[in-house]
Order: sequence, then structure tokens, then C-alpha cells
Amino acid sequence: MDEKIQILNNINTDDARFLINIIKSYNSYIKDMKEKHTNTKIVIDRCDTNLDKGIINLDSINADRYFYTKMKLRIKHIIELISKKDTTSLGDKKILHNIIYSKPKEKIFTLEKNKMDIVELIKILSEKNITNIKMVANKITDINLFKEEQISMAIEIIKIQNKNERMAKVYDLVYEYLKKDFIANNYCDFIEDKCIAQRRFHIYPLTNKDGCCFMQIRKCNHLKNGECDTQCMACRLFSCPYLTKRGIGYYANELVLLKAFFDKSQRKILVFEFYKSKEQIIKKIDKKMSKD
Ligand code: SF4
Ligand code: SF4
Repeated sequence: MDEKIQILNNINTDDARFLINIIKSYNSYIKDMKEKHTNTKIVIDRCDTNLDKGIINLDSINADRYFYTKMKLRIKHIIELISKKDTTSLGDKKILHNIIYSKPKEKIFTLEKNKMDIVELIKILSEKNITNIKMVANKITDINLFKEEQISMAIEIIKIQNKNERMAKVYDLVYEYLKKDFIANNYCDFIEDKCIAQRRFHIYPLTNKDGCCFMQIRKCNHLKNGECDTQCMACRLFSCPYLTKRGIGYYANELVLLKAFFDKSQRKILVFEFYKSKEQIIKKIDKKMSKD
């Protein structure tokens, strides 16, 4: 792959840089998975899930729809296509374009009868206030490591008794994950204040610089020296149509913690309240909860 990255570097077009960012994103995912394999506390055991005894058998928990997100499947598909291409064909700009817009086969998710959805499991842990658990599995697989991570974060959240502090914790964990993924992988690829969509003269955004950090007629007040000074979840979940077509997009119902700790109407606030601070958003959710 290093040789292919070098070729893409030499081409240095928007498409070539986009593919480099996809490869880097995939590599950092692989690195993260290796760390999880090293640090896991999952015990190899075949015993059944027994919440009263604090045992969760990860093999009996289903997390497919949250692990195989649309974006992850698209990235994996792009990596497979790049791997199959020889170095000469990667020099062809049309081939790069086709790789970016090629879509993987749609994955159909079914919940096996003997398995519990991870979101349902977390809701039960929260209702019963279970925070002392041991996770077991037949085998340490990537998806079981993902389940371990999500359940461990959920336990930290359940330990918080204060309702607003609990919401803030969910918010922080999800926001930090999205920020790490979206910003670190540089999908917007800003060059001299213009993002990739603006350089392509795409229909959105309407301004010619600063990306989509603007309101109807002016720049968002939170944009200071080219950086956002707040934690707006809606903005972090947002991908413009240009990036969405290229497979970059996050969906609130693909994020385990958002689905387990916020109901549909609360998630709607998280998805649509743009240009707001974390405090404003949590206050709005809290107000809604008191009315319901
Ligand atoms: S998400 Fe916004 S900043 Fe990023 S490429 Fe799209 S319009 Fe530009
Ligand atoms: S709040 Fe949203 S629109 Fe405003 S600067 Fe931050 S990310 Fe950009």
C-alpha cells in the first residue's frame, strides 16, 4: 500500500488526496483494533449471559448494524478496490474517480432469535443499575472488541447518577469519537480556507470559503480563526451532499450510545440543532424531557 500512497501523492488531485485519507483512516482503524486486541479484558469462556451474576457472553449479543456502519463498509470496499489495482492503473484519474463512487453490496442485518441487540442490553443494564460485569466470549474477534468497548463506556455512564451529568457524558464520548474520526481523517481537505466541496464548485456549500460553517447570511459565531469553539453534535454528525455521495456520513441510529441513552425525539434534537453549544443542546433535551 505504501507504493500506492506514493503514486496518489504524486498525482495530488482532490480525488487522489481523498483516497489517501481513506487509506489513512483504514490504517488507523487497524491500529486501533490491534491496541484493543492487546488491552482487552474479555475472558475466554463459554458460559451463558447471566446479568444477575454480572456475566455477559459477547457472542450472544448482536452489534452488527453498529459495527458494520455504512461508512465503514464503503471504506473497506474502497480499500479492496485499491488493493486489487496495479500501480499503473492508479495513475489514471478516471479509475480513481470510479473507485471513489463504487458502492459495496448492501448488507442486510437480521437479529438471530437467540441474540440480544446491544442497545437493548445496555438499556437493561441501565434500568437495573448493573455496573459490575465480566465479559466473556469464545474468541476475541474485532466485533467482540467493539462490543466490549461500547458496553464498558455504557457502564461508566450508568455509574453517573445525576441525569444531566449522565447526558453530558454520553454527549462527550460520542462527540469525541466523531471529532477524532472526521477531523483526524481530514475528509473536508481544506486548502487555503476552501474545502473539497468548494473547490469542486459543488452546489453546496453556498459560500466560497470556510466550508459549511455559515448560517444563512453570515459565518457561524462559533467559527474562530478557522476553528469551531464549541461542541455542536449536529455539526459533527453532518456531512455535506458531496461527502455523503462519497460514502462519508454518520447516522445517529448507528451510534450505540446515542441510541441506548437518548430516545428518538431527543436524538432528533442532537441531529438538527446546528450552531449550538453542548450546554444549549443538553438544556433543550432536558426541557423536552420535563415536558414529556
Ligand atoms: S462537510 Fe462542509 S466543510 Fe466538509 S467538505 Fe462538505 S461542505 Fe465542505
Ligand atoms: S458550531 Fe457548527 S457551524 Fe459553527 S463553527 Fe462549529 S462546526 Fe462550524
